[in-house]
Amino acid sequence: MSVQLKFLGAAGGVTGSRTLVTFEGYSFLIDCGLFQGPKDVRAKNREPLLSNLGAKINAVILTHAHLDHSGYLPRLNREGFEGEIFMSDGTGDLLPVMLADAAHLEEEFAKYADKTGYSSHRPAQPLFTTQDVEQVSKKFRPLPRHEWHQLTQNISFRFVSAGHIVGASIVQISFAFKNATRILSFSGDLGHARSLTLRTPEPIVETDALVLESTYGDRLHPKADTIGEFGAIASRTLKRNGVLVIPAFAVGRSQEILHLIRKCEDEKLIPKVTVVLDSPMSKEATRIYFKHPEDHNEGCTHASGRIEDCFLPHHFSTTSTSDESMLTCMKDGPMIVISAAGMLNGGRILHHLKSRLPHEKNTILFCGFQAEGTKGRFLQDNANNLEFLRIHHEEVPVEAEIATMASLSAHGDYADIGAWIEKMQKKPHLVFLNHGDIKSLEAMKDHVQLLLPSAQVNIVREPSSFSFF
Ligand SMILES: [Zn+2]
Repeated sequence: MSVQLKFLGAAGGVTGSRTLVTFEGYSFLIDCGLFQGPKDVRAKNREPLLSNLGAKINAVILTHAHLDHSGYLPRLNREGFEGEIFMSDGTGDLLPVMLADAAHLEEEFAKYADKTGYSSHRPAQPLFTTQDVEQVSKKFRPLPRHEWHQLTQNISFRFVSAGHIVGASIVQISFAFKNATRILSFSGDLGHARSLTLRTPEPIVETDALVLESTYGDRLHPKADTIGEFGAIASRTLKRNGVLVIPAFAVGRSQEILHLIRKCEDEKLIPKVTVVLDSPMSKEATRIYFKHPEDHNEGCTHASGRIEDCFLPHHFSTTSTSDESMLTCMKDGPMIVISAAGMLNGGRILHHLKSRLPHEKNTILFCGFQAEGTKGRFLQDNANNLEFLRIHHEEVPVEAEIATMASLSAHGDYADIGAWIEKMQKKPHLVFLNHGDIKSLEAMKDHVQLLLPSAQVNIVREPSSFSFF
């Protein structure tokens, strides 16, 4: 009897993480993510290859709550899935909030498509609905990390901390054969030691086989002085009485930025100014971050002993309604505004840009990856010679400073991942590289092969199956 792995996504790309594991007739998915990005990639979320899997799968185990690892769950459930969905405690808190938000956006988009004739389907079909999310949430089973949990008599699994975001975990699966036990580990998305708030990925003691993410297989992150760099950008903007607008991703990045602002205030790099978090989802995610000190690093300790004092700027407020958001757009600087969506492809951030881009005293600061084809990438790439940016069918003059900080990544680079592998006492003899574009995968293969000369290292370029042990 062997273990079968079937990579159904994140194969030659970074989204749609779903890997089917089968042993002794028992099948379970590691992650159940959405394909994200351009239209042809998103279309895979509706492809028949992935439908009708639901009824055949006994369980799902999640590495973390990001939608490219979890967002297909409502549809899987609709396809007849009857098992349980296991996740760490932190993921158990974040996931319902993230899926509800995604369902709401899907429903809003379908309504908009009906109104404008944008969709070829009438009525336009959201990928999943709020009701789908309510149904699938009943199957969520949050579990503590480190303990082994039994799936069947011969399969057990456990979670180990992965950094990356709150709740993110490496998943180790143990298969009991007649005369031996073998361990297969999924790295999920791995963080790194330079995170301002999250702990370094925990080393795993032993594994026989490893499925390894390769997002930055070809890159080393700049080892910049993040606090100094942010302090300088914020300080010059605030001195101009400008507004510093930060497009941020609700989960993870927003919390790191809040921490960064507070740190700069406490170290007197910037004055204590009004800071507005204009994203209901970020507000909720921040509350959940406070609940999980087990995922924080020593940067999150404050003399007061209060976690809020590590994350919240002195003059901090949040918005709830879109009216409150619009009011923020009209206020004078000096001020810092954090809003979503992080790649400017919709959301409240667009109103802030319309109001702040035309004035040179303001700054738009990119702190996260801007994907090819997004408005964020366009503005970032053309910052120096762009007269106008088109927002909501309007030509908005671009006079503000456009800045980028590359050092705030939630993924480790290849050196970080190498350091994590080196700490293993029993290293894998079989490695599958997924979750990266082709260039990153190929570069990662070279790095891993150097570290593990006798291991067989496979690049997962396309949906494919493997059998081993
Ligand atoms: Zn992730």
